Amino acid sequence: MLCPTCAKSALIEIRMHVAGSELTFRRCGGCEVQTWESPEGEIPLDRVLELVCHP
Ligand SMILES: [Zn+2]
Repeated sequence: MLCPTCAKSALIEIRMHVAGSELTFRRCGGCEVQTWESPEGEIPLDRVLELVCHP
């Protein structure tokens, strides 16, 4: 999957389980954009940290 931001580099995709949810972390090696996705859609990093610290 190509990065939708810079369209140059492929995204690195990592799936992990956090507090019972499957989250997907995507990072671009080109423009270094980072996104988190929950089953409900994209979520901000703040929300991820909340899930990790206060499930
Ligand atoms: Zn990019």
